[in-house]
Amino acid sequence: MVVGTTTGPAGPMPERRPRITSDRRRVTVLGATGSIGASTLDLIGRHPDRFDVEALTAHRQADRLAELALAFKPRFVAIADPDRLPELRARLSGTGIAVAGGAAAVVEAADRPADWVMAAIVGMAGLAPTLAALRRGATVAFASKECLVSAGPLMLTVAEQHGATLLPVDSEHNAIFQVLQDQAVDGVERIVLTASGGPFRTWSLEDMARASPAEAVAHPNWSMGAKISVDSATMMNKGLELIEAAYLFDQPSDRISILVHPQSVIHSMVAYCDGSVLAQLGTPDMRTPIAYTLAWPERMPAPSERLDLSTIGRLTFEAPDPGRFPALSLARAALEAGGSAPAVLNAANEVAVAAFLGRRIGFMDIIDVISSTQQSMGTQPLESLDQVTDIDARSRAVADEAVSDRRR
Ligand code: NDP
Repeated sequence: MVVGTTTGPAGPMPERRPRITSDRRRVTVLGATGSIGASTLDLIGRHPDRFDVEALTAHRQADRLAELALAFKPRFVAIADPDRLPELRARLSGTGIAVAGGAAAVVEAADRPADWVMAAIVGMAGLAPTLAALRRGATVAFASKECLVSAGPLMLTVAEQHGATLLPVDSEHNAIFQVLQDQAVDGVERIVLTASGGPFRTWSLEDMARASPAEAVAHPNWSMGAKISVDSATMMNKGLELIEAAYLFDQPSDRISILVHPQSVIHSMVAYCDGSVLAQLGTPDMRTPIAYTLAWPERMPAPSERLDLSTIGRLTFEAPDPGRFPALSLARAALEAGGSAPAVLNAANEVAVAAFLGRRIGFMDIIDVISSTQQSMGTQPLESLDQVTDIDARSRAVADEAVSDRRR
């Protein structure tokens, strides 16, 4: 079962499952060493009576993965970079925890029999493991937005075919999901995705062109990994979320709008045909939406700071500025073009953000790299997951070339 793929304008919600509080749940965390991984394991660690950890994965941070394995005692750990396997193996020898390395080991982790899987690997590297979890019909708490942007309709079809349940983790989509859980979905008129505006909300274009990676990752409200922090600074994050929302909730582009809300208190809203607007509010702490997916369809306690609107005093809103944040228009155009366009957008963005973080291009070059890659690649129908992988690889090669051009 999957969010928003069958009937009704907003699609159906997954059916509520039986109560889970009395059952122990077996969970796997893909991307355990990242920011979402840390928030997830923080919650799991607070409820040892409710969760057993099946598998944990990382890319290169063998030390951190070993620490987590010693603390959470999973049956299996996988490190994607095989060069880090000997270190991981040495740290975990004698513990009885099975250890493996390489991209296939991460897929194996996802394939192991956990009831609930957190998909929090950054970028398209998360696609194969997430598909493995979906193909065995797991409940997948879904953070890896890049995979859904690139392979959305195909991924949702895999989930549906295998009876998997996708629960959105991204705070905006989780907010919409929470609102839709208790409401009739056929009266939805519009989805409003809120955006903090990122660290450069009030910066001039000239200052943005000179921005350093340290300035770009210094998000005013959220503590997140480097890639999504840069995406927030360009507002490509909101562009990716627009595409994610269109796929998850089965809505056309013109029924999803973006509203800048610098306090990040309202995490998103749903407007209904009778004029009602429903929202989910909270302090900016990912443990709240993650807790919702961990306990769904019930609720569990999370230690997030409680919302005190009298202290906050004022909530403000403004329209996004398309001149300083062209990523929004690029993403909307990719959604409307359909086919391979979102996959090209995502691949070019991943390459450009990595180049910016490596100080190989400037901040505003990120947009130039994406649009020149889009122009070179064009748009074609997307019919298979193999085709997604092929388009992703070719777009990365074109974007790499565009990065090199900017350095000459
Ligand atoms: P981080 O960079 O903090 O963590 C990324 C995780 O992915 C790490 O565990 C990393 O391992 C692992 N990883 C990276 N590359 C690979 C690879 N090639 N193969 C296997 N594992 C890999 O990212 P975040 O936690 O911030 O974000 C994760 C995902 O969640 C992203 O898609 C992001 O857009 C999304 N998201 C994040 C939010 C947040 O608040 N952070 C909010 C909403 C969505 P290692 O540590 O070893 O490098």
